Amino acid sequence: MAIEFTREVQRASFYSPLEDFEHVDAEVEVREDPLTGRQSRIAPGSFLAPDSYDIEEVVGDSEGCFFCPDSVEEVTPTYDDFVGEDRGSEGEATSFPNLNPYGAYSNVVALTEDHFRPIDEFEPAIFEDGIRLALRYVAAVRDHDERARFASVNMNFLRPAGSSIVHPHLQTLVDDRATNHQRTLLEASREYHDEHDSSYWADLRGREEDGERHVADTGDVRWLAPFAPKHHRHLVGVAGEHGFPDPEGDLPADLGAGLVPVLQSYAAAGLNSFNVALYLADDPTMPPVLDIVARSVFDEYYWSDSPFFTVLHDEGVVDVAPETYAAEAREQF
Ligand SMILES: [Zn+2]
Repeated sequence: MAIEFTREVQRASFYSPLEDFEHVDAEVEVREDPLTGRQSRIAPGSFLAPDSYDIEEVVGDSEGCFFCPDSVEEVTPTYDDFVGEDRGSEGEATSFPNLNPYGAYSNVVALTEDHFRPIDEFEPAIFEDGIRLALRYVAAVRDHDERARFASVNMNFLRPAGSSIVHPHLQTLVDDRATNHQRTLLEASREYHDEHDSSYWADLRGREEDGERHVADTGDVRWLAPFAPKHHRHLVGVAGEHGFPDPEGDLPADLGAGLVPVLQSYAAAGLNSFNVALYLADDPTMPPVLDIVARSVFDEYYWSDSPFFTVLHDEGVVDVAPETYAAEAREQF
C-alpha cells in the first residue's frame, strides 16, 4: 500500500502578552493530502464559535418560501420531458429543476416539509429520500445524454454555507465535465490506480480501518476524518462500490445513516451550518465520495470562515486536528 501521511510541525516564536511577555512557541502542523498533495494547516484558534446564538427570527419566518409544501407545486419549475415526471417525490422530499441552474442539468431537492430543521433534528430517512431523488435525476439525465459522465449532489445549509434559502435542500449537477475539485480527485485516483494497480479509495478504507481517524461505518460507507482536512470538521464518507450508484440501491440509506450523527457531532461542538458535496463519476477508479464540512456559526454578526487562505490560496486551515474531532464524531454513532 502506497498511502503516505506526511506532516511537519512548524514553530512560531514570540514574546506573548498572554504570558507576561515570556518567550513562547506556537505550533502549526502542516499536512499533505495523501492523494492530491493538497496542503492543510492545523492552526489552533483559527476557527472561533460564539458561546450561543439566536437565529429564530431568520429561520422561523417561512413566508414566501418556495420550498414549503403549500407553495412548492405552485412556484417551482417542472422537469423537461426526458425526465418523465413533472417533479420527483419520495417521503417528504420533492425534486424539480433549478430555476438558477449551474449547467445543462441542474436540480433542487427540497428535503423536508418543515421550513427549518436545526442540524441535530434530521432523521436518516430525510437524507435517504432526498439523495434517492437526486440519484434518480442523475440516472434520468444519463439515460438522456451519454456525455453526462459526472455528477454531484450538494448542500448549502444556512447563510454562512452560501444558502439564501433556510429550507433544507440539496442541489444536483450532472455534467459532461467534472468541477475543478472533481477533476483533481479523478486524475489523482486514475494515476494512483495506474501506479499501484489498486483503488486509492479502497486502500484508504483499509489503511484507516483501525485508525484514530476512522469514525464509523454505515452499511457500505466508511466515515473518516481526512488526514489533511479541506475545511473545519471535514469528514468524508467513502463508498465501497466504485462507479455510479444505483438510485434504488443502498447508498442513499447508508449516507443518511451517517450524515445524521455527523451533524449531531457538529451541533455538539456548537456549530449550526455546513456544506456537503457527493462526487459521482463514471469511472472504475472512484467510488461515490461525500465531503461534509462545518461552516461559521450562523448568528446575527457571524463572520466568514473563508479568508484569503480558503478563497485565494485553496489551502485548508483548521483549528481542531482530525484525530480529535473524529473521536468526538464517533461518539454520536
Ligand atoms: Zn420553507
